Amino acid sequence: MKPLQSDSTVQNNQVAPSSLSRHLQFLGSPAKLHIEHADLQSLATQFGTPLYVYSGAEIRDAFQSYAQACKGLAEVTICYAVKANSNIHILKLLADEGAGFDIVSAGELARIIAAGASPAKAVFAGVGKTVEEITYALNQGVGCFNVESEQEMHRIAEVAEKLGKPAKVSLRVNPDVDAKTHPYISTGLKENKFGISMQLAPRVYAFANAHPFLQVHGIDCHIGSQLTDASPYFDALDRVLALLDQLATQGIHIHHLDLGGGIGIRYRDETPPKPADVLPKLIEKIRHWAAQSGRAMPSLSFEPGRSIVGNAGVLLTQVEFLKQNEDKNFAIVDAAMNDLMRPAMYEAFHGVTPLIIEQDKPSAVYDVVGPVCESGDWLARNRELAVAPGDVLAILSAGAYGQTMASNYNSRGRAAEILIDKGQVRLIRKRETIEDQLRCEQNL
Ligand SMILES: *Cc1c(COP(=O)(O)O)cnc(C)c1O
Repeated sequence: MKPLQSDSTVQNNQVAPSSLSRHLQFLGSPAKLHIEHADLQSLATQFGTPLYVYSGAEIRDAFQSYAQACKGLAEVTICYAVKANSNIHILKLLADEGAGFDIVSAGELARIIAAGASPAKAVFAGVGKTVEEITYALNQGVGCFNVESEQEMHRIAEVAEKLGKPAKVSLRVNPDVDAKTHPYISTGLKENKFGISMQLAPRVYAFANAHPFLQVHGIDCHIGSQLTDASPYFDALDRVLALLDQLATQGIHIHHLDLGGGIGIRYRDETPPKPADVLPKLIEKIRHWAAQSGRAMPSLSFEPGRSIVGNAGVLLTQVEFLKQNEDKNFAIVDAAMNDLMRPAMYEAFHGVTPLIIEQDKPSAVYDVVGPVCESGDWLARNRELAVAPGDVLAILSAGAYGQTMASNYNSRGRAAEILIDKGQVRLIRKRETIEDQLRCEQNL
């Protein structure tokens, strides 16, 4: 292998302790990576790779950091964004902690029901809700629709009238603020497809307010994902409160505010704000506004996804080959872009570490790549790693938008998932077999 380069593009891969979470630690000698007290190398041997492994304690801690940040300040529901990680065992764990849910499809609603959670605690967002999805959600008693267009409001009204079931609605408004994140995960700018513009919102509220089968519940905004700066939340809140004032002059009074999700996590060296730094200040601002305008304090919700599960999960993958081309070393692993899409999709950075740190093992700089037939199939680039074929690597911070974005590209089965919780190791999703993949294609 090529010797270690002193190239500035090389990312020091000795994982900074700060990027490992409280429940993910190297223990023993030689140092072996553990989640809580489970040795990840043993899990890789027992369950095979690629393998997603999650820490229940980390998920609970992250959820509680939200719940505790709001405690006693207002009536707040933390609605976990299901798309970040939708395994029903994780949904159940969060439901037991008291979470509500932010869903974006009928499938996600079915998942929270399968997890034993109440549909009444779900808010349904998404720009393209079909008649079938709206019908299903109304029949199940979904808590609220976060409506993203005037056309959708009309469609919900029609379905609700036909079923004879009033629908609770909030408008997802687009506050046109720059969340300063990757363009693919910014959602609160006026050029994004999400939400209803501030200009149009009064008209849509007026329609909903007058319709016998619509009940105006609240207002919602979600400005983007992986935010590492809190200021866009305050800008968005200012605009939402100004809109509420305007609506009040038209006799439309909103009693619920949903401020979305989007707080970032540390993948490399980011310093995202903590819920305790942001939520109390947002709540204080709302309280001040309510007091000034002589209104009751509205109830609130937040919709975090990534910051609940992102750093609670790792993807374990075995090194198959070490290959050297003219200018590069490749560590070819058994996980690929179909297992973890984020690097291919956003050029996202994930920390990588061998599960066992052996002191005298020679290191080199590698691109960690999968077997899929795409040059975009890489998981990490330019990392200094001391590895040999057969070693297992952990791709860090893979708990959010990992398995939920997985596909069968190249007819690869999706990875198994393990949840470590309260001292137990549980297989929460079986490895997908080729029979699983072929099932929908048979007997046509
Ligand atoms: C994706 C999404 C979230 C969660 O975003 P995170 O960045 O994972 O916290 C919240 N609300 C809506 C409407 C979303 O689409």
